[in-house]
Amino acid sequence: MTDATESPARIGLTVVIPCYNEVDNIEPSYREILAELGTLDLEIIYVDDGSVDGTLEVIRHLAESDSRVQFISFTRNFGFEAAFSAGYRYASRPWILHIDADQQFPAAEARVLIEAAERGNDAVFGVRTNRQDPLLRRWGTAAFHFIGRRLLRIEIPEGATAFRLVRSDLAREIVDLRLPTPYFLATVPRLTSRYTTVPVRHRPRARGESKVGFGFLSAHAVELFVGFSRRLTTAASFTTLLSGLLALLLAMASVVGLLGGHAAAAALLLLLTVVLFTLSLTVRHLVVLGAGQARPRQFYIRESSLPVRDADRLCGTPRFLGARP
Ligand code: UDP
Ligand code: MG
Repeated sequence: MTDATESPARIGLTVVIPCYNEVDNIEPSYREILAELGTLDLEIIYVDDGSVDGTLEVIRHLAESDSRVQFISFTRNFGFEAAFSAGYRYASRPWILHIDADQQFPAAEARVLIEAAERGNDAVFGVRTNRQDPLLRRWGTAAFHFIGRRLLRIEIPEGATAFRLVRSDLAREIVDLRLPTPYFLATVPRLTSRYTTVPVRHRPRARGESKVGFGFLSAHAVELFVGFSRRLTTAASFTTLLSGLLALLLAMASVVGLLGGHAAAAALLLLLTVVLFTLSLTVRHLVVLGAGQARPRQFYIRESSLPVRDADRLCGTPRFLGARP
């Protein structure tokens, strides 16, 4: 259903831009956003994720010269998920447009997201039609979607990226849930069925390097696979049970002399015990991970142009400081 009165173009938009060492990208992306969306009721929040290359200085400068620009700066690098979460928490407009600092997603494509939001969606995700990233990254994403969606049956919008338009209330609700694995793409479908994807253009990175490494992406994927599906743990428990039964059968067979040489039987038993043990440890690890462990907050803020919660400031959490070695 079309709902123009609720359109981001009408009621306002906070652009959230996570930045980690993007010193050369801040100003060009700011200019592009203003050129494409400057006529809307706009707020722009830069989240500096612990940059060490002067990114914060450029952002501070922009915030001083343009009252639409706000910023939040972290005490260290917490990762892009933490960076956008902070931006979502402090967005003041009813809609959030999430866009990367490196201009890989053209700001003009936000219009396509806005049109889809006007069709009654709470969240709209851009899907790259001509993804301009290295082949390995593209294969990695294909494997990720295959395992997540097809094998583990996790509901994630197909091909969805971080270039998205989301109702601020929905985004904030997800951030405030403080899930052990706050996988935004997989949490949206758990809260609303009104989400969709739209094709958008994609550009190669013009300045700076990708900050998202293979190690981080794999760890992030495992968090999703474990935190949002029971299939892995069920498979592990099932295999453990089967190995146990097999070990029992072998033990009985060797006792009644069916296997002949005791050494071979013992070796097999040992092997099975190792498999069993490893699997049960894995299951335990997965369960602990899924249940969530004691851990610090997702991010800590050192400086901001906006008022932020005391709990989000490092100085407001002396117990955490005390716990550090
Ligand atoms: N980013 C961040 N913290 C990080 C890594 C990345 O805030 O630890 C930001 C980065 O500055 C960029 C966005 O997240 O604005 C996407 O990162 P990148 O372009 O490196 O990812 P890719 O496009 O290669 O997936
Ligand atoms: Mg990029």
